[in-house]
Amino acid sequence: MTRFNIRKRDGLARTGIFETGITSVKLPFALAAETLFPGLESLKWTNLPLCAPMALVNQFPPETGSQPVAIHPLRDNPAQSGDCVMVANWHTALLNPRNYTDWLICLKEKTPVDTAWYAPGTALPSNAHILCYSGFDLFDFLAVDLKTAQALFCTPEGEFPADVLGSGICTCAGCQTENLLQHNREALLREIALISRFIEASQLRDLVESRCRMNAAHVAIMRHLDNQYPFTERHLPIARSGVMRANSGESLQRAEVRRFAERVINRYCPPKTDVAVLLPCSAKKPYSLSQSHKKFQRAIAGRAHELIVTSPLGLVPRELECIYPAGHYDVPVTGYWDAEECSVIARILARYFKRHAYRRIIAHLEGGALKVAQMAAGKCGITLEFTCKEHPTAESALNALDAALAGERRMKDDRLHGMASYQFSIDLETKGTTVRGHYPDLFYSKNNVQIFSIDTGTGMLRPTFDGWHLIPEGYRVYIDDFIPEGDVLVPGVVRADPGIRDGDEVLVVGPRALATGRAALPTEDILRSRRGVAVRVRKIKRL
Ligand SMILES: [Zn+2]
Repeated sequence: MTRFNIRKRDGLARTGIFETGITSVKLPFALAAETLFPGLESLKWTNLPLCAPMALVNQFPPETGSQPVAIHPLRDNPAQSGDCVMVANWHTALLNPRNYTDWLICLKEKTPVDTAWYAPGTALPSNAHILCYSGFDLFDFLAVDLKTAQALFCTPEGEFPADVLGSGICTCAGCQTENLLQHNREALLREIALISRFIEASQLRDLVESRCRMNAAHVAIMRHLDNQYPFTERHLPIARSGVMRANSGESLQRAEVRRFAERVINRYCPPKTDVAVLLPCSAKKPYSLSQSHKKFQRAIAGRAHELIVTSPLGLVPRELECIYPAGHYDVPVTGYWDAEECSVIARILARYFKRHAYRRIIAHLEGGALKVAQMAAGKCGITLEFTCKEHPTAESALNALDAALAGERRMKDDRLHGMASYQFSIDLETKGTTVRGHYPDLFYSKNNVQIFSIDTGTGMLRPTFDGWHLIPEGYRVYIDDFIPEGDVLVPGVVRADPGIRDGDEVLVVGPRALATGRAALPTEDILRSRRGVAVRVRKIKRL
């Protein structure tokens, strides 16, 4: 009986412990596979080409009942929770990024999430990042040993002729003794150890964006996966612990960037005012703690809805400025916005203003952000007013902004309503709520009973049991007839509302208890796994 205990997930990538009953190994890892699976060499019909036609696939059904379980895009998947699945010939997929993505999605969709993924004969220091990013965790030394046989020296940046051995590029034990085989194996293990660190820090995407530049196919695979938005988005946590480094053009297509924009357009409810001011972003997050935004807010004095125009997120309503990734991204600021950036962000603004009509929209912007606002206005037929002839924080610009808003009424500041609409897709009744705390560490109450607090790490709302009363539907995980002690595990879950993502706040509902907590898996994976934590519980209430 084998088992894969996932410790940390980052998109499709995972770290964890794989147990075979005899031994256990911390994944991702590379080792001689026969040490884990002694019968591997005698397993029959496990080596079909990925592009094999159906007739051939049907002719050679794989042996069942032993590990690893061979899976193939055209075959019904026999793998169960805890198995190690093996995809033969995956190194050939790397040559065709479109097939790679199609096959990967096909295989992932029909395999339980708590399975270890073995790609035999595939891993090199130069491709391990994209393999782990795609959800493979177990590798062997066949591919690096082949490079050794070809007299090639492996590095994460690519392969070099073996005469660089001893040149100082690497000083590992293998290099010191001019042992190419040892160097190549150690280089693979080092790269996998580094990848594990990035997964644990929830920042594998940043490493992949940097590593993939050396190989066009790797860039293409990352882009194809981004284009498969429904698949990729589902696997991404709703918030991460660290900073999102939006340092490349691909950041614009990153699924969590697109998810933010989609939710701002489709879920978010703006406050009841018909005047909007478009503002530039600030390096400091949340924006309102920056010097520039303090000036903007003094000039606006609550007389307009504040919308921040920014790359790569598009549009950040003031109420959402703390929510991941709005409160957690870092971009290289040059003042120059490239054509693709302008077009993607103008499209987001145009979609937003088509959905939410304002009587007046004031663009307190300059440079690239101003150009984007003008492009959006052209697209959706709105008229902008302009208040910046100079830098937006210049005295004259701030005076012009103040003057433009003369006579407009102060709007009610209702952050809670905006945040609840974004996070839970609801129109929350906030009448009678009070707020206390030191921004952004806020607590919301109604009739002196606390209903929400803010998780300052992610900027997300955390409902109390009384808060959940105000959220009529969605984000529920239904459990069996038991009282949870600690976290709710997958086998205890009966069903779960659709659309829950890793990291979402959820209410656990059972016949004998309620619990508040945070989902550890998306709905689909809660329902098709057999092990692991489904909800990290914060509070339990017996019924
Ligand atoms: Zn070395």
